[in-house]
Amino acid sequence: SLFITDECINCDVCEPECPNGAISQGAEIYEIDPDLCTECVGHFDTPQCVEVCPVDCIPKDPDNEETHDQLYAKYETLMAAG
Ligand code: SF4
Ligand code: SF4
Repeated sequence: SLFITDECINCDVCEPECPNGAISQGAEIYEIDPDLCTECVGHFDTPQCVEVCPVDCIPKDPDNEETHDQLYAKYETLMAAG
């Protein structure tokens, strides 16, 4: 999954763009739930939050590295769960 660094300025433009509802406002900055983030695999060719973030503070999470196949499997699980 991706994660949001402390460069986040709490602008709120990413949250409504996430097709998986993975982004929410945390105590200090916005946060991504790694269980819900598919890096937009299954929905879009590029991560939508990265596309809109004005300060480029959403990199890949080195603690949650996933292959395309793993991300697609997560997408299918999320879709099946509705
Ligand atoms: Fe949501 Fe896609 Fe960003 Fe992950 S990469 S948080 S799924 S918009
Ligand atoms: Fe933070 Fe970027 Fe999301 Fe704005 S778009 S809330 S700066 S992560």
